Amino acid sequence: MTPLNKGSHHINGAHVEDTAGRPIDLVYPATGAVVGRLHEATPAILEQALSGARAAQADWARTRPAERGRILRRAEQILRARRDEVARIETMDTGRALSETMYDADGVADALEFFGGVIAGYSGESLQLGDALWYTRREPLGVCVGIGAWNYPLENAGWKSATALAAGNAMIFKPSETAPQAALILAEIYAEAGLPPGLFNVVQGYGAVGEALVRDPRTAKVSLTGSVPTGKKVMGLAGSLMKPGTMELGGKSPLIIFDDAPLENAVSGVLMANYYSTGQICTNGTRVFVQRRIHDDLVARVAERVAKIRVGDPMDPDTNMGPLISAAQLAKVEGYIQSAIAEGATLVCGGKRASVPGLEGGFWIEPTIFTGVRDDMTIAREEIFGPVASILAFDDEDEVIARANASALGLASAVFTENLARAHRVAGRLEAGRTWINSYNVSPVEVPFGGIKDSGIGRECGIAALDHFTQVKSIMVETGQMACVF
Ligand code: NDP
Repeated sequence: MTPLNKGSHHINGAHVEDTAGRPIDLVYPATGAVVGRLHEATPAILEQALSGARAAQADWARTRPAERGRILRRAEQILRARRDEVARIETMDTGRALSETMYDADGVADALEFFGGVIAGYSGESLQLGDALWYTRREPLGVCVGIGAWNYPLENAGWKSATALAAGNAMIFKPSETAPQAALILAEIYAEAGLPPGLFNVVQGYGAVGEALVRDPRTAKVSLTGSVPTGKKVMGLAGSLMKPGTMELGGKSPLIIFDDAPLENAVSGVLMANYYSTGQICTNGTRVFVQRRIHDDLVARVAERVAKIRVGDPMDPDTNMGPLISAAQLAKVEGYIQSAIAEGATLVCGGKRASVPGLEGGFWIEPTIFTGVRDDMTIAREEIFGPVASILAFDDEDEVIARANASALGLASAVFTENLARAHRVAGRLEAGRTWINSYNVSPVEVPFGGIKDSGIGRECGIAALDHFTQVKSIMVETGQMACVF
């Protein structure tokens, strides 16, 4: 297992290094060992990335969309062929189980296939208004900045770049310094697919590098995945410069289970909403509202199935839960567990560091369930980003909707019920960018994704995402006499 040692950055189609930059240590979350070192982008590296992207973008914007799509679909094929290698690197950076990261590679290949396919048919509209013909063009924005979080680094880089590039933009991507390698492999893949140099540049660094990219007058937009405080800061900066932003931020999503829901299906929903990716997913349904009549049965069954979760070596294909990503995240999750106990919630299972023989230095935590959680407790209000489910009892529909919506966040939500009318009624009333009915955490690239309220602005995925990476120009052709009041 070795990290990429070809250079910290990927600019103008090649790996680049500048050891003058601040060191970024790569830590394997399963062992806590430092396994490699990259360097933060220096001003010289940023200049190469910005000028290269700027120079390449104008020709790319004029390239026929079908040709742009062909290159993306070649990248898709290469990614599918390198799936195993890419997934291993992603697991090395994030600690997420290989069984998940293989699926991430497939998801990004799907994005390249989708945007590479639909872009040829994506265009403006035309309107004949009397003697005037109007038409609109969807023009690329220019050089776009992508900034990624650490939990889904390949997906962040892949979703953002596939959309930006399909629409005729260049992208400079700054991964989270905690998970920096996936974007470098993606850049290699684009280069191998024939993407002209400069169109997808990767620069490493901490927040200041992202900020410098947003600030630079040569960039036209920022798309960030990250926490709410960072999103507000970056969107504020972009706004002050009149640059558009897409912000995919955190959540504290409600998962509502009515007493007519098939129990086993609802239990699967709770597991997928709390333990996938060791709970480090923005959409997680961490406020599990259960109708009182089935509360005890559901808790018992969730606990039985949680006991069967295979926590262990993330490189073992049979593992389905790896460690948390970092010592800092472990401390944060443990802090939330302590707060829940102190505030009077009942610990049903978990709550301690997991022991994984041979991997003692890793950032392991047991899958955890709390019952007796009240809406005002810290774990019911704040995003934990760990495998900690809070179960809250409710009595009726109006009550649960009011409680579910009483959050500043609005990323995702779910309702489990066999009652068709109630399912759609509740879905319509939940304040969230997405609602699943009788399912959880399914995110196909064809469907727009993003939050409302403090969870973000703009959408990724689907045709809607292309709208956020283009601007509309309207053009008029007068075929008759021009109107003139003079
Ligand atoms: P952060 O908000 O800390 O960081 C996100 C990215 O922004 C990182 O690359 C970070 O760099 C960068 N950054 C930080 N400050 C600035 C700045 N001032 N200007 C420009 N860029 C900056 O999030 P995490 O990486 O810690 O990810 C976890 C969070 O992301 C969770 O809260 C989670 O909810 C959210 N998230 C949301 C998703 C969604 O789609 N809605 C998906 C995944 C995660 P660096 O880390 O190097 O400082």
